[in-house]
Amino acid sequence: MMLNCKETTRFISEGLDHRLSLWQRINLRLHVMMCGACSAYKRQIEGLHRLFGLHRQRTEGIMSDMSSEAHRLSPAKRDQIKHLLESQSPGHSH
Ligand SMILES: [Zn+2]
Repeated sequence: MMLNCKETTRFISEGLDHRLSLWQRINLRLHVMMCGACSAYKRQIEGLHRLFGLHRQRTEGIMSDMSSEAHRLSPAKRDQIKHLLESQSPGHSH
């Protein structure tokens, strides 16, 4: 079975709190490989999680703050956040 985007993002955030089962991880990886949106979401939320050491709920709060406030951020500020996130993600992990 294939995961949809909603299930995938749920597994991504659940994976921050506890280990997912083998089939969950396999299906998550398959979806993320094929879906640019979920791949970007995974990188961002994992970057934030590492950066701030937050629990899932707070990380998700920051993510939704960032999306709802994104139009109010200056391009320079957005760039800064983007760089911050990217510097937290090892680009050579796979
Ligand atoms: Zn997706």
